[in-house]
Amino acid sequence: MLAAEEYKDIEEKIQRGERLTREDGLRLFHCHDLAWLGAMADMVRKRKCGDIVYYNVNCHVNLTNICTSHCKFCAFGRDCNEKGAYEMSKEQALALVADAMHDPNLAGLHVVSGLHPTWTFEHYLGIIKAIHEAYPQLYMKGFTGVEITHFAEISGLSVKEVLIRLRDEGGLQAIAGGGAEILSDRVRDELCPNKATADEWLEVARTAHKLGIKSNASMLYGHIETLEERVDHLLRLRDLQDETGGFQTFICFPFLPKNTELGESIKQTSVWDDLRTMAISRLMLDNFTNIKAYWVMLTVPVAQVALGFGANDIDGTVHKETILHDAGATSPTALTEDNIIRIIREAGRIPAACDCNFNILRTFD
Ligand code: SF4
Repeated sequence: MLAAEEYKDIEEKIQRGERLTREDGLRLFHCHDLAWLGAMADMVRKRKCGDIVYYNVNCHVNLTNICTSHCKFCAFGRDCNEKGAYEMSKEQALALVADAMHDPNLAGLHVVSGLHPTWTFEHYLGIIKAIHEAYPQLYMKGFTGVEITHFAEISGLSVKEVLIRLRDEGGLQAIAGGGAEILSDRVRDELCPNKATADEWLEVARTAHKLGIKSNASMLYGHIETLEERVDHLLRLRDLQDETGGFQTFICFPFLPKNTELGESIKQTSVWDDLRTMAISRLMLDNFTNIKAYWVMLTVPVAQVALGFGANDIDGTVHKETILHDAGATSPTALTEDNIIRIIREAGRIPAACDCNFNILRTFD
């Protein structure tokens, strides 16, 4: 497929498998030929990962929504006495996982929570330790770079020491990808000045990777960031991936404005923007194998279409999502495995259930 003459040089680079530059990324964000962008991203996806689309049967555990950070884009965080604030006890967390265990295919947990003003690091650690002891077979992915930085601050331990304790005592096998937002001091100073800086987020990932703990990367886009900042964000992730190789997958999160402080002034991204951002992410992140179409945020139909725009991972069944539904996500709070298989098959691809480490457990050719 041939793009307009002005993008021919980029198309040739992509065909040759050459790395795209910052300038190329910016030009791609000004390209209006969405079909061409999709075709380029799909070509790269096919070359790198074939036709398999990964998903896993997983369960999200959000221990508390009480959070000191007050990020302007967040609809999940609450103050202690605010309506809707909750704290999960160890017993409640165990009960949630026990419920999810009714699905015999459950492969892993995704544990992400607010930065509680009085919970200690030992408290968070104690809960995941109890879950791990009860269900050692479950892959434990948990805590974002923002939470890990917070744990280091409140415990007086270094990030490395926090990670080692989470791994050795809590069974943590990988870190969640959230909290990266846009890796720009300008954006973070404006939207989330009370939590980890861009450098701190990257440093957590770097430290984890050196310890052999994998992590995910993400980008929350469609708020106050510029297109230059989106490209720079991708390049910072690409640079770290060159250095460590420890990112497992990249996830694009469109900003969902409902119930957020920022929401009144900003419109939700269009499907057009979601698809071009997915495609450009695949093209710029040439050292990432997996690009995720997170159906919870994109909606199921858009996630399905995104499989033709560079994505090869559609997350999982989730069991019961709450963080993004507080922000007005219109997708279901969970999908059955049958549904996920159907979505992937309809897109002409091969569903593969995997563990959270992308080891294939079963395929449905
Ligand atoms: S995005 Fe995370 S850190 Fe920020 S307010 Fe929400 S829960 Fe807290």
